[in-house]
Amino acid sequence: MNRDRLKKLAGDKRFIPGIYNYCDRWCERCPQTSHCLNFSLLEEESSDPETRDIQNEAFWKKLSGIFGETLELLKETAKEWGVDLETLDSTDDIEKIKAQDEAAENHLLCRAAKRYAEMAGDWFDEGETLFFETAVAAREGVDLDEAFEVIRWYQYFIAAKIMRAVRGKIDEGEERGDEFPSDSDGSAKIALIAMDRSIAAWALIRHYDTHGFEKVVDLIAFLDGLRQAAEKAFPSARSFVRPGFESFDRNG
Ligand code: SF4
Repeated sequence: MNRDRLKKLAGDKRFIPGIYNYCDRWCERCPQTSHCLNFSLLEEESSDPETRDIQNEAFWKKLSGIFGETLELLKETAKEWGVDLETLDSTDDIEKIKAQDEAAENHLLCRAAKRYAEMAGDWFDEGETLFFETAVAAREGVDLDEAFEVIRWYQYFIAAKIMRAVRGKIDEGEERGDEFPSDSDGSAKIALIAMDRSIAAWALIRHYDTHGFEKVVDLIAFLDGLRQAAEKAFPSARSFVRPGFESFDRNG
């Protein structure tokens, strides 16, 4: 994609600015694909069936092409505004960024979110596929596969968003004002939504998984504890309005 096309798309009024920053990246289930620049870019670039294959080198080349063009566009715009991107990071800045990254990595919330991903992974690894229970649930009109899919989708996503929220909060530090919604609250909000949905999915599994009942209860308790801790650390997160979603309301 050339720069002019990228510029034209970026200025297209049908796209909601920043919508992709606080979504759950589950594009297959997103009701706002037609308003998402990110989605349109990837769709446009992957119209060739070969490029749809994530293993295909062409896919990554295309993606890297988009990133390259975007970077050039960013540099061009920065220059127009009189900002020299090359000189922004001094050695002190780099050291500070490293220290902040480390602080975020070691933050209790981030470690707990990673632990949850491991616990969920262990549960799946232990072969808790619940064939019998799945059939029982299906007879009652409940799709347990759907619950597995939800948990799998958010398994690592929660940790990634918590990390971004914590990292953002460290970065915002004292400079943070109350007049603008903060990126850390937006990231925390989508992490909380992912936890809400995962807990609901686990609760459904618990209802049918009579043998592994205790393990699932432990997982729910752990995730609920993480959710409460995240709510405490980011008290404004729940009221953060995510562009394109809260007004549409698909339950987050
Ligand atoms: S806003 Fe929707 S379409 Fe865009 S990246 Fe997020 S999930 Fe995908």
